Amino acid sequence: MSGILYLVPTPIGNLGDISVRCRETLENADFIAAEDTRVTLKLLNHLGIKKSLVSYYEHNKAFKGDKIVERILAGETCALVSDAGSPAISDPGEDLVKQCAAAGIPVCAIPGPCAAITALSISGQSTGRFCFEGFLSTAKKSRREHLNSLKKEQRTMIFYEAPHKLLATLADLRDAFGEDRPISLCRELTKLHEEVVRTTLGQAVERYTEMPPKGEFVLVVAGAPREEPESPTEEDAAQCVARLMADGLSRKDAVKEAARKLGLSKNEVYEIALKIPE
Ligand code: SAM
Repeated sequence: MSGILYLVPTPIGNLGDISVRCRETLENADFIAAEDTRVTLKLLNHLGIKKSLVSYYEHNKAFKGDKIVERILAGETCALVSDAGSPAISDPGEDLVKQCAAAGIPVCAIPGPCAAITALSISGQSTGRFCFEGFLSTAKKSRREHLNSLKKEQRTMIFYEAPHKLLATLADLRDAFGEDRPISLCRELTKLHEEVVRTTLGQAVERYTEMPPKGEFVLVVAGAPREEPESPTEEDAAQCVARLMADGLSRKDAVKEAARKLGLSKNEVYEIALKIPE
């Protein structure tokens, strides 16, 4: 029987955020696959856990993925961790989950710290509907295509960004969505210098031009305002009634139908219809 792949989230800043279940899963796993074994070793030392570690990161994942899948199929249990936060969310792990799922290996995700959700919760933006956009590409063409595809997005958008690229990204977001669009910049979450700056894209560019950004950021950008459909004009109503009468409806029925279609009151449409010759 095959083993299991566990996705184990780790603290994004505050070591106290490791859960009992995460700790137990790390203790009980046969081996841990880690994005950076040195980072994970520090966490394991803090937790007093000794465990065999293998590295699994962006540039070895094609080769290491096969090895990990082989071991799990042979019955071992693997705990996957990234440097911080939830594995597989803008982190190596997405491919391993796909590989395991394709091989029929059970995958179990333990809920826990995730920078995107932590930021969204405290952003002060609408949380009812949101989309996670991860990191924008550094390649100009795909970056432009990505931003263009979001111009009409009405859901709250969440982006990850590294501090040295933040200013350029804010400028591109401002150019795509306009300088008045609200943004919450969530910095150093769960750490000593945690901060949320709720402002607009235009002001955010000014702020970080004067004061170069430091620390880790999640950007939570408000969605595009809902486009109000234009209300029908008198002329629209008159044309609609005339068309319906030409189709054979009586004036009374045409008014009723036009009012329903255009979302106007029957009285309103009736006044307009009186001006139409029989
Ligand atoms: N998988 C992780 C997660 O979902 O929590 C994210 C990993 S991704 C490689 C790293 C990015 O997450 C950073 O560039 C930053 O945008 C965000 N991030 C991670 N920790 C953060 C923190 N403490 N405060 C703000 N942003 C953070």
